[in-house]
Formats: sequence, C-alpha cells, structure tokens
Amino acid sequence: MLETICETMIAAYEKNWITSRDGNVSIRHHDRDHFYITPSGVRKQTLQPDQFKKIKINTSIHSGLGTADLLYAWEEMPYTDISSPLKPSGEIPLHFGLQKEMGQHSNDVRVVVHVHPTYCVAAMHAGIDLSTVSKNFPELSRYTKVAPNVGDVPPTSQILADQCFEKLELDKNGFIKYDIVGIKGHGVVAIDTSPWRAFEHIERLEHICKIILVSGNY
Ligand SMILES: [Zn+2]
Repeated sequence: MLETICETMIAAYEKNWITSRDGNVSIRHHDRDHFYITPSGVRKQTLQPDQFKKIKINTSIHSGLGTADLLYAWEEMPYTDISSPLKPSGEIPLHFGLQKEMGQHSNDVRVVVHVHPTYCVAAMHAGIDLSTVSKNFPELSRYTKVAPNVGDVPPTSQILADQCFEKLELDKNGFIKYDIVGIKGHGVVAIDTSPWRAFEHIERLEHICKIILVSGNY
C-alpha cells in the first residue's frame, strides 16, 4: 500500500492540493505495533516506498494511586538505507495520536492523509465551517462525515494534533466520529481504511467547497 500512497500524493499534487513538498500520509495495519509515515521535506511527485519512515508504537503502564494509565511513545525503527537519513513528517504528533489506537479500524488498516486543498482552505478562509456544507449537498453527507473546523493553530504542533483529535471526537480507544476535519488557514486531515478511500473524502469535500465558492452563495 506504500506504493498506492505514492500514487495518491502524485494525484494530490496534480489536483493542486499540495505544493511539491507539502502533505503527509501515515498507514498502520491493525495487527502491527508500528506504522509508516511519509518523510519530511521530500518532493511528493517523486516519493518512493523505500523513503517512508517506519515508526514503532511503544506502550507502558503508568500506575498511580489506584489508577493504571497506558502511556504511548513513538520511536524510529530501521527500514531502508534511503530512509535512514530522512526525518519523519513534522506532523507526526497528528499521525501518531490517530495511529496509536485503531478503534473502528481494528480489523483493518488506518490511513491518515493531510493535504492543503485549495477550495477547502479558501472556504474556511471565507468563514465557512466545513461541517455545515454537507446539509445542502447529500452526495457529500452520504459518504463523508465532516467535522467542525479547527481554528488557527501552528503547523506541526501538538496543539494542531490535539485540536484535530477534539474535533474528530477521537476517544481513548481510537474511535473517531468524522472522516475529515479542516484546519483554518492550512488544510484538511482525512482518515479511512485505504489511501484512495481517504483521498475520496478530500475529493468530495473539495468539490462541494468549489461549487459553494463559485456560486457566491455562502
Ligand atoms: Zn500541512
């Protein structure tokens, strides 16, 4: 599936959802204690499967007074010679937080895609909350559940990750209520069980945002 992710990033570039080095994707199989994430700063038109970073999910028990919490941490694992000098995407707090528990994807694969689609970002810039647009467009709401927007937060920050988790309604078992969330002035994050399924959430929302902006009725 890493090859498929590379194909989706080329398609995202051709659709003007990213400039050359933008965007990031992670993928985890339900029965693995690691996930793969795109490297930082690599041109997405020439992204190769052997450039991905392999990330181990470590768990430990933290016992307090009558409580026991599961703590998570990530660490890089050796993967390929080409990937070893590369760094994982700066948005790893976002990907790690979603990948560490599988929730409704527990018998499957979870793919997290983050890109900067022109019309989604333009709609949020114009003051539109993306969670409201599906009301008038059933072809969107039938297949894609859109979360309320995340406000202005710094890219690659833990705050961005935490705000996305809150709006997606991520719970401690890894369940989320929505398929896609917009981040104001920045982009979107979509989650599904394959790269192309996540891609389609973005494509549907982008298409409706374009229609709304072109209509001038918002
Ligand atoms: Zn971004």
